[in-house]
Amino acid sequence: MFHLVLAACLAAQPGSCESRLLPAGEAATREDCQLRAEPIARDWLARHPDLADGGGTRCVETAELPALTMQEVAEGIHLHQGAMAALSPQNRGRIANLSFVIGETVAVIDAGGSRAEGEALYAAIRQLTDRPVSHVILTHMHPDHILGAEVFSEAGATIVADARLPEAVARRAESWMISVPRQIGAANFAGTRIAAVDHKVTAPETISLGDRSLRLTPVPPAHTDNDMTVLDEETGTLFTGDLVFQGLTPSLDGSLAGWLDWIGRPPDPPPTLIVPGHGPAVEGWDAAVTPERHYLTALRDATREALRHGLALSRAIPAISLAMKPVSEGWAGFQAVTARNAATAFAELEWE
Ligand SMILES: [Zn+2]
Repeated sequence: MFHLVLAACLAAQPGSCESRLLPAGEAATREDCQLRAEPIARDWLARHPDLADGGGTRCVETAELPALTMQEVAEGIHLHQGAMAALSPQNRGRIANLSFVIGETVAVIDAGGSRAEGEALYAAIRQLTDRPVSHVILTHMHPDHILGAEVFSEAGATIVADARLPEAVARRAESWMISVPRQIGAANFAGTRIAAVDHKVTAPETISLGDRSLRLTPVPPAHTDNDMTVLDEETGTLFTGDLVFQGLTPSLDGSLAGWLDWIGRPPDPPPTLIVPGHGPAVEGWDAAVTPERHYLTALRDATREALRHGLALSRAIPAISLAMKPVSEGWAGFQAVTARNAATAFAELEWE
């Protein structure tokens, strides 16, 4: 298989150039790829005004594409574990766990924090199989999970998300399109656009990959207000998105009460393997959620204590952070994330 690669430079910084993979130009032979390259690249650039042609196109073999490192964690399930850190130029925004499931077709679960990461995930799939990518399932709205989706849209996949996601993303998109390139570097963000959701999930449903199926379950507000879990029924692997954090401090952007409630109701039957949104895959429900349950319970208790003492928000945040010190061990980014969580929890629990 041959792949169309475009040399593209930032319109605002013409010296800063990147290679973009355009799946619409995929072909069985180099000749077929080259024949269609020019119009496909021209169309694509017209839709990505942040980039300009930086020296034309070339057609390369699958093995030449830069690809994410994947690990097969269950039969046909491949996981890329993101960096355990906040967004930075060093990690290029590649902090979320990204997975794909190979059936007769391929489903991607979370698409990465930039166009470039989505392309590297697409390349990793192509290095294992040439089956069509039928679905990209977004577990929730956060930019480190969704910003790579457009490349799969161009490859013909259906983008699937909780029905609440598009509006939640739309409210934040403008600010993310400024803040994320600032955090990871403009070149690492080149060509990134937010993909439209093609299929909105409003109730539990099953999607078919031909010989295996995935069960999608929307979750009431918890980590965010648009979380959705994905269960591979064949292996009992549950993809939780950021409903489960391992090692990276959980960030609260939905409902603390709802999140603790979700943790308190293990799925029936219990999943055998849990793939969290950040950190390693874990066998067994209790092992997967116990550290996070401790953290979120401590956050709730410390916030209630601050409210009981009538502290104003500005004094409550340091008080909550201090009270949570005993549960800080093993959580990367504890201080910064906990301060933000304290403010969010304060606003929610004020009304208890
Ligand atoms: Zn998240």
